[in-house]
Amino acid sequence: MAPIPFESAGEVQALETEPPAAARLDAKPLNVSRERVDPNAVDVVAKLKGAGFQAWLVGGCVRDLLLGARPKDFDVATNATPEQVRGLFRRSRLVGRRFKITHVRYGRDVIEVSTFRRAPSGDLRINGNAKANGLILRDNAYGTLREDAFRRDFTVNALYYDPHEEQILDYVGGLKDIKRQRLRFIGDARQRLREDPVRLLRAIRFQAKLGFGLDAAVEDSRMVARLREIPGARLFDEFTKMFLGGYAAEAWRLLEGTPIPSVLFPATPKGTCLVQLAMGNTDRRVANGQPVTPGFLLAVLLWEDFRARVKAPHSEPGGANGGDAAELAAQSVLADQRRIIAMPRRHSHFIQDVWLLQPDLRERRPKRVPKVLQHPKFRAAYDFLLLCAEAGLVEPAVGQWWTDIQTASAEERDAMINALNPALRRRGRSRQGGRSKSRQR
Ligand code: ATP
Ligand code: MG
Repeated sequence: MAPIPFESAGEVQALETEPPAAARLDAKPLNVSRERVDPNAVDVVAKLKGAGFQAWLVGGCVRDLLLGARPKDFDVATNATPEQVRGLFRRSRLVGRRFKITHVRYGRDVIEVSTFRRAPSGDLRINGNAKANGLILRDNAYGTLREDAFRRDFTVNALYYDPHEEQILDYVGGLKDIKRQRLRFIGDARQRLREDPVRLLRAIRFQAKLGFGLDAAVEDSRMVARLREIPGARLFDEFTKMFLGGYAAEAWRLLEGTPIPSVLFPATPKGTCLVQLAMGNTDRRVANGQPVTPGFLLAVLLWEDFRARVKAPHSEPGGANGGDAAELAAQSVLADQRRIIAMPRRHSHFIQDVWLLQPDLRERRPKRVPKVLQHPKFRAAYDFLLLCAEAGLVEPAVGQWWTDIQTASAEERDAMINALNPALRRRGRSRQGGRSKSRQR
């Protein structure tokens, strides 16, 4: 990342209309220019301002521009209500679970527009209520630009950029913290964490993503326990942001230094080599532009628990057969995890398929091999097998065999299958009838 020429930054002027004074700076000397902004986001800001509203780029995109990095996406904040935004852009729709935002569509590109909001107070904050513990239950109150800045989590995430005036607005000292490479909560860290324990995860995420140091201790186990109060769907969103952004290995390393994994993944043993490898592998895929899925990481994180439950006494002979026992174990592991992190069903199916294909991949029964190769989830299951081999849980030769067979000609394939252990060939025949349904999915 290019260093930021802060010393040469433009004159700092006080904005007299919005006490306490915000710093308004020329963006150009900070290496932030309109050319680095998605033209669609510039267009959204122009249309809103043309209609008489205030409009600014805000949050992660401004932070990343200042750091010389390419923003993942561009978010706009405005004083127009969602309905007013909707009225200005034909190709737009209102979305949002916790609060309404507007998605403005330009082909495949989406610009997210949110209305200035303020931190909840008075009747919105449930302070002193034993049940709610100061947790914000609703935060949909509109506010001013200044209030919008102060309700954000970290100072570095509360900077505004006007791509037309080419000005940056800083109410909270975010520019200084970018320069210091510090992640600092706006206001009192403990209070902000009490309001929204998800900020614990965000603190880890931004440390990993930006390499910034955190100006507060967040490992407090009472605070961590409060993550249990967060709806599972929101935790799933945070899970994907944390691990699919290209910095999963570092995020996991930081998480393992806190009690957070014991709340989010209670059955995942600490220091699991397979998990570390999977995180690094995911980061490499992101860097190479290869697809990544949260299901794969969840399959890795929950693998030990799945294995333990397959081996548990109630799934031994006398009960369900091997395939069904595995399927039942998979379902119980996934049901338990969904109570914490609400993964959509398609991910549960994916994980179950990846797990249930592992014995086939490890055992290589000749009759099963062609079917396994055609299974829609073969590729993911094979990646999982390679990871297990890398972690020393599977013979490397087995992984290599599956690598080779994918590029082999039909004759070579037959020869590879025929060369498999004859004992396995016989067992393969005798087990043909008893495959579990899910493997045909
Ligand atoms: P990234 O580029 O990695 O997405 P981001 O800063 O854009 O980082 P988002 O999760 O997309 O992160 O959130 C957008 C902005 O919304 C943040 O920059 C922050 O200002 C604000 N924000 C998001 N979540 C919270 C929260 N839980 N509490 C306070 N502010 C939040
Ligand atoms: Mg973002």
